[in-house]
Amino acid sequence: MEVKIAKTAGFCWGVRRTVDKVMEVADHASGPVVTLGPIIHNPQAVARFREKGVGTVDAVGEVGDGTTVVVRTHGAVKEELDRAEGRGLEVVDGTCPYVKYPQAIAQRLSAEGYHVVIVGDANHAEIKGVISYSEGPCTVVKPGGPIPEIPAKKVAVIAQTTCIGADFEAVVGALALRHKEVRAVNTICNDTEERQADARSLAREVDAVVVVGGKNSANTRHLAEICREIQPRTWHVETEAELRPEWFTGCQVVGLSAGASTPDWVVEGVAGWLRGLHRPGTP
Ligand code: SF4
Repeated sequence: MEVKIAKTAGFCWGVRRTVDKVMEVADHASGPVVTLGPIIHNPQAVARFREKGVGTVDAVGEVGDGTTVVVRTHGAVKEELDRAEGRGLEVVDGTCPYVKYPQAIAQRLSAEGYHVVIVGDANHAEIKGVISYSEGPCTVVKPGGPIPEIPAKKVAVIAQTTCIGADFEAVVGALALRHKEVRAVNTICNDTEERQADARSLAREVDAVVVVGGKNSANTRHLAEICREIQPRTWHVETEAELRPEWFTGCQVVGLSAGASTPDWVVEGVAGWLRGLHRPGTP
């Protein structure tokens, strides 16, 4: 079967930068190395780090003195970083600069008296981190979900870096009709926009789409949603072990897209399986 791989499939610039940083720290640290939360949302990559001796903790309170703490791509809650600093632990900041941007915007505009509205997933590590930088009240609006009443004249709207553009636009438009002043700062990462545009074109050209990446990865889930709207035969898998031959019955060409936190070797594993597939219903 022919496999078309999206140009943008696999690690984005920010993830590659953090992964390289963790590897460098692991090679040179004299004591234990841990990441604060999974370094990226990909279980297969996290397992490889574990093999290299890099552990994962949820809070600074779980590590002993002398531990090097690496902040993951999605950033961390400010109080946790203050705690690490207070204990004199070595902190290596792997936060993607595109995630630092909404953190800084939330801090600055909240200090200027804006009620900060974030379009994104309130349970996502990135959003928890951004909220922690806001110096005033903050409201998280789920993409496509209801927008609560916000008792403020001035609101500042920002987005999770992986947000779909149309979802951000819908919230900004709705708030513009309700509040005297609305500041919208588009904090969606360029990589996300390019990857989503790339996935859209790919889905139009193929008979089925496989989106590869962690089930806990927001950007991978969004890619699958985008592709499914265009091509209903879209499957989101973490590795080739989940693929089923019957999904591709009658398919000539299958498209392959992958989230920003999906390692190349995982993408290649899926591509290899698809290329070697003998489809039911074909000679
Ligand atoms: S998707 Fe964008 S924000 Fe997220 S890690 Fe990659 S470059 Fe950074």
